Amino acid sequence: MLTAVVGINWGDEGKGRMVDLLSADYEIICRYQGGNNAGHTVINDKGKFILNLLPSGILRDGTVNVMGNGMVIDIEHLWGEIAGLGNKGIRITPNNLKISDKAFICMPCHKQQDILEEERLGDKKYGSTRRGIAPVYGDKYMKKGIRMGDLLSMETLKAKLSDILEWKSIILSGYGQNKHSLEALTDWIEKYGKPLIPYIADTTEYLLGAVKSGKNILFEAQLGALRDIDFGIYPYTTSSQTLAAYAPIGAGIPGVKLDYVVGIMKAYSSCVGEGPFTAELFGEEAVALREAGAEYGAATGRQRRVGAFDVPASAYGVKVQGADCLALTKLDVLSYLDRIPVCVAYEIDGERCTHFPIGDRLMKAKPVFEYLEGFKTDISKCRKPGELPKAAAKYIEFIEKAVDCPIRYVSVGAGRDDYIELR
Ligand code: GDP
Ligand code: MG
Repeated sequence: MLTAVVGINWGDEGKGRMVDLLSADYEIICRYQGGNNAGHTVINDKGKFILNLLPSGILRDGTVNVMGNGMVIDIEHLWGEIAGLGNKGIRITPNNLKISDKAFICMPCHKQQDILEEERLGDKKYGSTRRGIAPVYGDKYMKKGIRMGDLLSMETLKAKLSDILEWKSIILSGYGQNKHSLEALTDWIEKYGKPLIPYIADTTEYLLGAVKSGKNILFEAQLGALRDIDFGIYPYTTSSQTLAAYAPIGAGIPGVKLDYVVGIMKAYSSCVGEGPFTAELFGEEAVALREAGAEYGAATGRQRRVGAFDVPASAYGVKVQGADCLALTKLDVLSYLDRIPVCVAYEIDGERCTHFPIGDRLMKAKPVFEYLEGFKTDISKCRKPGELPKAAAKYIEFIEKAVDCPIRYVSVGAGRDDYIELR
């Protein structure tokens, strides 16, 4: 069984917690895109974890976790994450972690460039996590990248670094910055890269072997459909493909087909960073929802923007993800509301529109809200569909119809077992 767990919205839907839950049935868990801009929260019997780079399956004994070629890896950050897990008794070894030789290394110069560019943009900034993600993906496509496999031949790598710094200095000088020292960069690469050598593998061969022997593989996305570089709210997107269709490519086995796609969709909306966010709530309404949902970035601690469930955006997310089923997360958060706002359509230039638009049309879109009855009860202890109050069941049914995809799981708390399986 090859399954992808992907985000339907703008990210932070609760992918990490669903991967942690579903990983019980999978031998291998792969992250296939993104870098340490991810913040995947997992709360289980081992504690509370926020994973940036490591697949959320890493907390399950007996699983093998793969960081695919589609990822960009800040190797210094990775060591920090490994040490953090070590402090909580989770041991990371080449037996439970394999890193693709084709994954790109995110270096200090990428972080620096990210920060310089966000500052240059001022009011027009993208809302980057400032962790170097856009510059490192940019370099990948400019063919100026360093890959994990390059660590295997240090001499050649040094020559490549020298050429890259030469080119980078042209960019940095535009920002009034000096050229980077080759020595400092080489030291950084040696310090954090060399100890990773035992983890580097031809993950394509490894995964193809696993597929052949019938192993179950789970693919974990970072962010959501609306942040996909091609299909999201460009340019307020991330710099990689967050969609399920990319999972086999980014994991390293482009020739295989997924069997199942689980879309993770939040019961309301949240968005960290800039860009159009039509169903956004403001003022007291926003404060109340943000507090109820503890909407602060897992990777950055930034306050998240919050809004009503957005039907046009979520229905679009379901479509581009090709979701077979959905997990509706954080339904418990809405318990405090007398009536629940839902953005059922957009109004663009005076016309009602349910199709998710791009560019200027999206920028002009205004929300059309409808209100559903609130359930006003604590549902966090519900574990069976029959235990949900009527109004909660109606809300689920309404959303399911609106996005045209079966909701299989509903989560009612952040812990591993705080969920209801509907079908
Ligand atoms: P991800 O990036 O998609 O993995 O999601 P994040 O971890 O960034 O954000 C989800 C947040 O919601 C985390 O703080 C989770 O612990 C929390 N969470 C997940 N599911 C639920 C739920 O059903 N109810 C509540 N109250 N919190 C949840
Ligand atoms: Mg997150």
